[in-house]
Amino acid sequence: MVTKNSKHKKTCPNGHIYYKSSDCPVCPVCEKETTPTSGFLSLVSAPAKRALEGAGINSLKQLSKKTKKELLALHGLGPASIPVLEKELQANGLSFDETKHSINNH
Ligand SMILES: [Zn+2]
Repeated sequence: MVTKNSKHKKTCPNGHIYYKSSDCPVCPVCEKETTPTSGFLSLVSAPAKRALEGAGINSLKQLSKKTKKELLALHGLGPASIPVLEKELQANGLSFDETKHSINNH
């Protein structure tokens, strides 16, 4: 008999076997694999995430090559995402590519 507290053995579409007590469909292995340095993508909204991925920005390193202006020009990425991304960059010793533009443009 299966008790209410027992964890269910699940297999994800990629063949990982994992145990979840809830109905959460997220495979922990896949989740880890898809978020090496791209954890910041999970911090923003779905449209913003698609916008970043669409622009080829899958890592903080690539993100740091962009200016806020460039990011805001992406369809789906709103101003609310900027501080979130900036905080994540700073947490990793990076920043937006703001300095050279703002300093050298005059
Ligand atoms: Zn998986």
